[in-house]
Amino acid sequence: MDIPEELRRASEFHGHLCPGLAIGYRASRGAMERMGIARAYDEELICVVENDSCSVDAVQFFTGCTFGKGNLLFEDHGKQVFTFASRQRPGRAVRISLKAGAIPPPGEDVDPAERREKALNQLVSAPLEDLFYVDDIDFELPQRARIHASILCDNCGEPTMETRIVEKDGRRLCIPCSQGRSSASMRLKAPST
Ligand SMILES: [Zn+2]
Ligand SMILES: [Zn+2]
Repeated sequence: MDIPEELRRASEFHGHLCPGLAIGYRASRGAMERMGIARAYDEELICVVENDSCSVDAVQFFTGCTFGKGNLLFEDHGKQVFTFASRQRPGRAVRISLKAGAIPPPGEDVDPAERREKALNQLVSAPLEDLFYVDDIDFELPQRARIHASILCDNCGEPTMETRIVEKDGRRLCIPCSQGRSSASMRLKAPST
């Protein structure tokens, strides 16, 4: 199979070569081409991903939209849908959605490894429009990530972003402590009487 060199490099980041990675690769490259982004990646680019599967690692690798930088936004919809927007093109975005039938469905009489190989081959070689719906849409850019102060959780003492603090029975708690499931509390909690 003819795997593009850049997809091989992405698979080193991701840990393996798989159909999901190829989905994210084609979606990312397709969007960048559509938006006229030539560089490896663009700081002004934002991507909203609607799944948290293998494909998202390709999005991070190829577009520079990363969880840590805050320009990768996750909406838990369980769909292979990717919306790319740039701060230089306000109000518009490119929405890329995997088509039904783009990859062979699992079947009882199909060997999983064979199906995977076939899917990967199809995802790497098929024209973009055979794999995805690509639409230009209206899109409102989310606010840039703000820096918030940290305050100490009254239970575990760990610094916690103020917007994530929960008030409970007059105490200010981090989310896990407020739900009684902190793994830090045993270590850091002030000794009780
Ligand atoms: Zn994978
Ligand atoms: Zn806590």
